[in-house]
Amino acid sequence: MSSKALAVSSRFMTSRDAFQRVLSRPKAAETLDDAPEFLRFARDEKVDSVRFCGFVPVGRGRRKQVIHRLGFGQDLDRLREFVAASVTDGPPMVLFDPAFGPLPPGWGFHECMAGIETLYISSIGDVYPCTSLLNPRFVVGNLGERPLEELWNDPKMTSVASLPREDLASPCRECPSLPSCHGACRGITFAHTGDLGAAFPFCLRG
Ligand code: SF4
Repeated sequence: MSSKALAVSSRFMTSRDAFQRVLSRPKAAETLDDAPEFLRFARDEKVDSVRFCGFVPVGRGRRKQVIHRLGFGQDLDRLREFVAASVTDGPPMVLFDPAFGPLPPGWGFHECMAGIETLYISSIGDVYPCTSLLNPRFVVGNLGERPLEELWNDPKMTSVASLPREDLASPCRECPSLPSCHGACRGITFAHTGDLGAAFPFCLRG
């Protein structure tokens, strides 16, 4: 992060004391090196939380060079060390989004909310259960053809969130953390492997 960007961010944040201050940053292979500096900056500025976002390869993001730059498949060891050292309850609270999968030391994860609490409507009216499931296979329907309420109640809306254990590949299927991890994010797994039931490809358990 450049010193100019740090200075501008700092001025902005001190002028907004009435708001919760959240710093968000994509975390990928090419931004791992300056992650500690970013966290130091967040602590010095006393922000409330830091959110690290992962990358989901859909559309043009599926190109190999993009995945190489923005994924972290080659750097899992470094990523694991960084996550273990930085996950805290604050201050600031450091959060990683579902793209990172289960986090040490507890290896718990979120309940998948695809189609349960979330949906995504594309610019052409296609409705998906989640932003991580932007593939034609997961389109529930189109708003030009069916009302939103009907799409929301379509069983296809929650089919990914309710994927049973037996549909998961090893090692997720036998993993002792499965009851809390739920096999991590199926949308990200599908985006990387083309297989909804594949093992989560970036599990930091190793
Ligand atoms: S192996 Fe699978 S179920 Fe176990 S912690 Fe990793 S992603 Fe979760």
